[in-house]
Amino acid sequence: MQSFYEATVTRPSAYAPLDGRRSAKVCVVGGGLAGLSTALGLAERGVTDVTVLEARQVGFGASGRNGGFVFGGYSLDCADLLKTLGPVRARELYTLTTDAVDLMRQRIQRYPIDCDATDAGVILANWFDEPARLEAQRRLMRDSFGVDWEPVPASQLASQLKTGRYFGGLFERNAFHFHPLKYVLGVAAAAARAGVRIHEQSPVVRLQRDGAGFVVHTPHGALDAQHVVMAGGGYARKVYAKVERAVLPIATYVMATEPLGTRLSDAIGTRLSDAIDTRAAVYDTRFAFDYYRPLPDTRILWGGRISVRDRAPDVIARLLRRDLLKVYPQLHDVRIEHAWGGLMSYARHKMPQIGRSVDGVWHAVGFGGHGMAPTTVAGELLAAAIAGERPVPDAFAAFGLTPAFGAFGLAAAQLTYTAMQTRDALAERRRPPRSAS
Ligand SMILES: Cc1cc2nc3c(=O)[nH]c(=O)nc-3n(C[C@H](O)[C@H](O)[C@H](O)COP(=O)(O)OP(=O)(O)OC[C@H]3O[C@@H](n4cnc5c(N)ncnc54)[C@H](O)[C@@H]3O)c2cc1C
Repeated sequence: MQSFYEATVTRPSAYAPLDGRRSAKVCVVGGGLAGLSTALGLAERGVTDVTVLEARQVGFGASGRNGGFVFGGYSLDCADLLKTLGPVRARELYTLTTDAVDLMRQRIQRYPIDCDATDAGVILANWFDEPARLEAQRRLMRDSFGVDWEPVPASQLASQLKTGRYFGGLFERNAFHFHPLKYVLGVAAAAARAGVRIHEQSPVVRLQRDGAGFVVHTPHGALDAQHVVMAGGGYARKVYAKVERAVLPIATYVMATEPLGTRLSDAIGTRLSDAIDTRAAVYDTRFAFDYYRPLPDTRILWGGRISVRDRAPDVIARLLRRDLLKVYPQLHDVRIEHAWGGLMSYARHKMPQIGRSVDGVWHAVGFGGHGMAPTTVAGELLAAAIAGERPVPDAFAAFGLTPAFGAFGLAAAQLTYTAMQTRDALAERRRPPRSAS
């Protein structure tokens, strides 16, 4: 089963693999949104002697497979960000992500990138009958981060999302959703038009220090570069241990239903108030939350679960279908036409790792499951630093390349996931949904 995104995109003719010996001022390893945002950010600053090396195809990784939610924040939740950094630096890092949401909107207009962008906001739906939890989140976002997430009473939410599962929600207006693969391909095309060289099917197999610079080796070529940016996400292996040891590849899954036509509004729709757009994307308050959104052709794109295992599409379809029916049993007979998984890269501290190691290699990894705006942040910060505009903000130094302990780390992560999911299941059992409509 092909991903919905791959099935609905026309890729431009392939970027040729790297062949022979070449040179560039900057070599970016990885053609996901972190790598390509860095390349485009450099080009926008007049640094066009840039080469991007991608092991497979542009957008092959998480950036071309994700849920398509674009909103502020990081994988580390805002309360923990505040605890770790204190009010000033936490707000500084959060604001970078809301600026990135705006920058992405601008790039969609400027280049222009046709990526089904739907500027309809995001609803955080409360899975638990605990209004205090939601109110605490609303206050935190308002008081510490300066953003208004609007409360949505349970009755209003239930008329828009036709399920008894939720106990109200919060509406984050400054958010949109889009076809991420079309966006990533658009960013690549904009970078290429500005002079950046992109090579697909060019896995970097070795990175070698050479005087003040580096030689980056692929199976059929080598690139001399003054700067190297490692941006291989959860897919990088055996090239640069310092970065790879600092992240764990964690899987999450997505599926798309058949087009539902008028049946879409049996689940999502019917605008009762002008306040909330019926096309808003939705996620919930559990640790391993569902995330879903209506697509322009009336499908529902549905994602969820986190696991250390990448699973086969038919297994993913079965698991996610069960999750869908738990919320919308009225869709029991819809067909699932696409199902796929992707790997995220997680640091133990759950924040992106953005900066430069003592040996001079730049890195942009660890975006976890909340990466669209943060990869754009990373691209801007690294491009500005490499172009000599300003250094990466100090606050990121608190989230370095701490070891993630490989197989042991994965086992520990799975234990944590199981514990958090059990905690959520127990909380749900104490206060079950009002009615399964
Ligand atoms: C299923 C899923 C759903 C998600 N949903 C959302 C969402 O709705 N909203 C959100 O904000 N975030 C979401 N995320 C997270 C987000 O997609 C990621 O955080 C983000 O895309 C990471 O981008 P990246 O460039 O770091 O990595 P990737 O996009 O994975 O790119 C890394 C690239 O590097 C290449 N590479 C690796 N090794 C080498 C090498 N040796 N040589 C050359 N190239 C190499 C890979 O082939 C890959 O193309 C989701 C992730 C997944 C998997």
